[in-house]
Amino acid sequence: MNKKDYYEVLGVDKNATQNEIKSAFRKLAKKYHPDVSKEPDAEEKFKEAQEAYAVLSDETKRKQYDQFGHSAFDNNGAGGYDFSGFDFSDIIREAFGGSFGGGFSNFSDFGFSGFGGGSTSRPTKGPDTVIQMELTFEEAVFGTKKDITLTLNETCDECHGKGGFDEKTCDECHGSGQITSEQQTIFGAFMTKTICPKCEGKGKTYKKECKKCHGTGAVRANKEIEVKVPAGVDTGNQLRIKDKGEAGTNGGPNGDIYIEFIVKPHSIYVREGNDIYLDLPLTISEAALGCKKKVPTLYGPITLTIPAGSQSNDKHRVRGKGVENINSFGKGDMYIVLKVKTPEKLTKEQKKLFEALSKTDLDSGKEFENIKQYL
Ligand SMILES: [Zn+2]
Ligand SMILES: [Zn+2]
Repeated sequence: MNKKDYYEVLGVDKNATQNEIKSAFRKLAKKYHPDVSKEPDAEEKFKEAQEAYAVLSDETKRKQYDQFGHSAFDNNGAGGYDFSGFDFSDIIREAFGGSFGGGFSNFSDFGFSGFGGGSTSRPTKGPDTVIQMELTFEEAVFGTKKDITLTLNETCDECHGKGGFDEKTCDECHGSGQITSEQQTIFGAFMTKTICPKCEGKGKTYKKECKKCHGTGAVRANKEIEVKVPAGVDTGNQLRIKDKGEAGTNGGPNGDIYIEFIVKPHSIYVREGNDIYLDLPLTISEAALGCKKKVPTLYGPITLTIPAGSQSNDKHRVRGKGVENINSFGKGDMYIVLKVKTPEKLTKEQKKLFEALSKTDLDSGKEFENIKQYL
């Protein structure tokens, strides 16, 4: 038997990074996972990919494979690396966007216990879709509307998702959707149930295949979706758009779309939760004498009174000038943090003034005295 090269299976080159290997496997898992795939050889392809990933994602095994090829894992000609102990649950969940409730919990025993014992003829919700959306700072603070276009599976309107016309009972499994077979293992013979390959577990077949969807019951289509971004979202927040995702099978509902936000940083504001921080530069004389300063906020400029004798890092809290709370009413606050700037260049005149100033006992005060007692 000529086994396919693991790199070829995943479609990556020999120098691929772990990230490239991961993402290649995710793509294949999405395409060939037996619970969702409509490809005729999905099960075979999925197992191939699992085996390749189990080896190449492990640097030690990958080295062995690079050196010895398939013979590195060939147990007396048993054929290929045994990945049954490998935990695929995380990567499978990632492949499908991380929002699966059930159904994908454990796949290492896939192939022995069938597909969780159930038949695939039951209505199944379409898979969820997770996408990331980048927002400017202001879009996140004030909310916005954005149209996105996604390519999703839609129920074929020609056959209403059935995949064909003129239904009849599958003659392979007699309508049960499952085939029972005996499997010889080193522990003895086991009766195993597997999905009927002819009807893919539906228990029925169609005399005429639907031409539009080639029997799959679904067609790929571009779907424009309006996303209403609520005011106050932050990086990592997810918005769920119910029932707008991939088509379900056997009359099941559509999956959901999850939009995960990534908010770009602002050039002067820093957000912490619903509070906004702003560093406000002050000259030495403004800090010493006090002043009135115009300060930008998210809601337009305000005038802040800086008292005489202000220090760097003094904080002024302005209530209600923060970000709207996404879960309840009210807004966060704004904190204006004073940053007293020592001039880096002085004109002749400024220099004279500073020299005059330095002769006036400016260094009296507790902090100066504390140091002086150790001199
Ligand atoms: Zn059948
Ligand atoms: Zn169709």
